[in-house]
Amino acid sequence: MCNKKVTKKVITDGLINNHFSNNYQPIYSADNNLLNGVEVLLRFNSPSLGYISPDCFISCAEEENLINDLFFFSTNQALIDLKNNHKLKKISINISPSTLMIPDFYCWLHDKCKDNFISNDNVTLEITENVEYFETEVFLENINKLRMLGFGLSIDDFGTGYASLSKLKNIPFTELKIDRTFVKHAKKNNIDRKIIEHLVSLTHNLGLKVVAEGIEDVETYNMMKEIGVDLCQGYFFHRPVPINKLINNVIDG
Ligand code: C2E
Ligand code: CA
Ligand code: CA
Repeated sequence: MCNKKVTKKVITDGLINNHFSNNYQPIYSADNNLLNGVEVLLRFNSPSLGYISPDCFISCAEEENLINDLFFFSTNQALIDLKNNHKLKKISINISPSTLMIPDFYCWLHDKCKDNFISNDNVTLEITENVEYFETEVFLENINKLRMLGFGLSIDDFGTGYASLSKLKNIPFTELKIDRTFVKHAKKNNIDRKIIEHLVSLTHNLGLKVVAEGIEDVETYNMMKEIGVDLCQGYFFHRPVPINKLINNVIDG
């Protein structure tokens, strides 16, 4: 729930005055507990409104056509952080479908990675299952070219949207992230556990990796490993933190 009045001006002022920054949340391999990469999560501290959660500013940025500006800001910074800290290994970036509607967007990302000496396969784009875009020409061209260039493509928040598997099969996804609402309840709710088991086996049959996000305790972590998810993320391991904390507490800590 968003209780702050975020406007176009608040976001543009925030961008001009550098009040946005990236946080990073570690993602671990389930089989050996090693860091596999980090998810980039944008933060906004507005001098006038204080801390504003992404749920508030992302929806306003979408409505005011500023979401691409936020994407470029956040991605430029994340690529520099990855270039300077190879131990981060990989970055996963949240991308709105509207950014994938920019003609030749794939060239921009490819060139940016090249400029920063980053291999494309160390960058994954997390896309929510927003079917209305999935059949448009520009979107599909970007997606297919990105995949051909080696970028990872992840279906985010899987299970909360309306995408049917038959729609998803047209997109060359490499990974599926099970929404944290299923993960959260799996420990107590056998139906959620069964849904996750089913998703994992189906996703593996399609050759995709599975990420469980929102793991908050050891019981859930053990259950996810038992079910066979590939990658794990959540407050049980680490909350999202700025780059200096990530380096000190997670990478070198
Ligand atoms: P998301 O992509 O599902 O990101 C994961 C969210 O789960 C993050 O919330 C993270 O802080 C939270 N989280 C991680 N582990 C746990 C856990 O164990 N328990 C619980 N309860 N939550 C956990 P955050 O940072 O508030 O971001 C919310 C959403 O805003 C993100 O959801 C993503 O959809 C969007 N978002 C954030 N940054 C960006 C961005 O740069 N671009 C776009 N397009 N969307 C963004
Ligand atoms: Ca995400
Ligand atoms: Ca998610």
